[in-house]
Formats: sequence, structure tokens, C-alpha cells
Amino acid sequence: MIINQKVLTTYVLNTTSISELNTNDSHDLSSGLNPLKPDLHCHTYCSDGDLSPQALIELAEQSGIDLLAITDHDTLDGYFEAKPFAESAAIQLVPAIEWSAVWGGMSVHVVGLNLDPNDSTLTEQLTNQRTARIERAREIGRKLAKVGIEDAYSGARNLAPMGQIGRPHFARYLLEKGYVKNYQEAFKKYLGAGKLGDVKTSWPQLEEVVAWTRQAGGVAVLAHPKHYKLTRSKLGRLIEAFAEAGGEAIELVTSPKMDSTDNPVKHFAQLYGLAVSVASDFHTPQNGWQHLGGLAKVPEPFVPVWQMMGEIKK
Ligand SMILES: [Zn+2]
Ligand SMILES: [Zn+2]
Repeated sequence: MIINQKVLTTYVLNTTSISELNTNDSHDLSSGLNPLKPDLHCHTYCSDGDLSPQALIELAEQSGIDLLAITDHDTLDGYFEAKPFAESAAIQLVPAIEWSAVWGGMSVHVVGLNLDPNDSTLTEQLTNQRTARIERAREIGRKLAKVGIEDAYSGARNLAPMGQIGRPHFARYLLEKGYVKNYQEAFKKYLGAGKLGDVKTSWPQLEEVVAWTRQAGGVAVLAHPKHYKLTRSKLGRLIEAFAEAGGEAIELVTSPKMDSTDNPVKHFAQLYGLAVSVASDFHTPQNGWQHLGGLAKVPEPFVPVWQMMGEIKK
């Protein structure tokens, strides 16, 4: 068993018998192991991140992270690729994904943590979501062709060799081909809300992605609730609907400091009895404000989500 000193110390402090160290090959986090530096939301280039799975694990190791979830959109490829590197770095790698879903006519994200990565329903649903993304990208390409922009689909695809093609890749293509002067213009003219490249995908309902996550043995976490820019009452309705659907946790700790002012996410998490996740949503080292693992501790009296995950699945 490879285990780093920090994890070892914590483990020893949290167990009654040192002899267990020799008999347990994997850690059951519910038995009391407290990660020193968790990060349960980040991306590799298998979805829309910049780093390869190997480079992400190297960065996690440098950052002292001991519990990590790669949460690429609709794919576990990054998880499988990163697994051997995580093992040799003594990082507990949680099989995870980030779903896109619809609630109340808007798009919301749900992170599924510690799912069985080989669950057949899960694999099938992920394939469906990826197919929907590709179909959407082709449709954006067809729409751009109608206004004289040729080969946008293949151009965007070349800019996303490992991952999924999204509007940022089309924006880069438009910029490189000189159709626009900058990213902002690409969105303003062609890709932004209400423009011809704003093709909607029929994402599954919030309740469905929560159900798929739980069927695969995972814990469903409402991702970055502040990003939706909802009024307090609408945010309350979203969190209530998520909890009613069987959602068990919410991303509350998303920055190095917990903001001390009135935080509606905290209020509703408590009201609906949700556990709390620690999540940077790291995509790239280029973003100075978004560090892998640079996150505050789970505040009292919340239950950290890893206490609900049980043994890490493989
Ligand atoms: Zn997201
Ligand atoms: Zn994300």
C-alpha cells in the first residue's frame, strides 16, 4: 500500500488501531479519514479543461491534495486515464462526472461523486449526452454555413481534439479565420444567447440526473449554485427541488475563504439537510483566481460530503 505521510498521520489519529493500517488496502472515508486537502470538482482536457489527466494529477500532488474528483462533463475518460497516476501519488481519486440538466427552463449542473464507473446505465446515459453534444456542435456548424462561414464544425473539432466541442471552440475558429476580431465579438455576433449559433440541447431533467447518479451508487451534488445568478427565493426553490429529487449535497466551499456575510446557499443547505462539498471547478492554470485545492474548510455544523461516500469505488 502506498500512502503518504500526511494521510497516514490523519488516518492514525482517526482510528483506534494502528494494525488496521496493515490490513486495509483502501480507505473507507466514512470510517473517519479526514482529507487534509480535498478538491471534488475539476476538469481535464477530456472535457473543457486544459490539462491532461496526468498533468492534473501532478498539479494535485504539488498542491498537497489528498482527495480528488475529476468531474469532466459527461465522460469518465479523464478519471480512467488519471487513475494509475493518482495511485502512485497516493491521491484518493473519486470516480465522478458533471451532468448538465434542466430545471425550470434553465440549465443547471449536478456533480455525481463516487459512482460505480462501470455501471451500465451510467455508461449509456453518458454516451447519450455526448451524442447530444456532438449533434449540437454539428447544428451550430450548419447554421454558421448558412451565413457563409464554411467548415466551422471541423474547424472547432480540430481545436478540441480530446474533448467536447463547445461554443468556445467555435469562437476560437471564428477568431482564427478572421470572421471576428475577438471572443466577445464571436459571442455577440454569432454564438451568444439568442444568436444563430445558440443551439439548445435537450438536456435531461434535474430529477433524472440525480436518479442516474444514485442508481450508479453515487452521491448527487448540486454544482456551483451561485453561478446561476438566481434570486434568493428561486435559489431556494432549486435547492428544494434538488433535495426532493434525492440530491444529497451542495457545493458550498468554492473559494479559499468562506464569505462571512449572509450566504443563502448556507441557509438553504441547512434547511434541506444537505451535506457540503469542497469544489474549485478548476479548468486551467491560466485562471489565477481558480486554484486546484485552494479551498476553505467545511464550516460547522455541516457534514462534509466525503462522509456520505463510503469506500472509494474503482
Ligand atoms: Zn458546471
Ligand atoms: Zn465544472
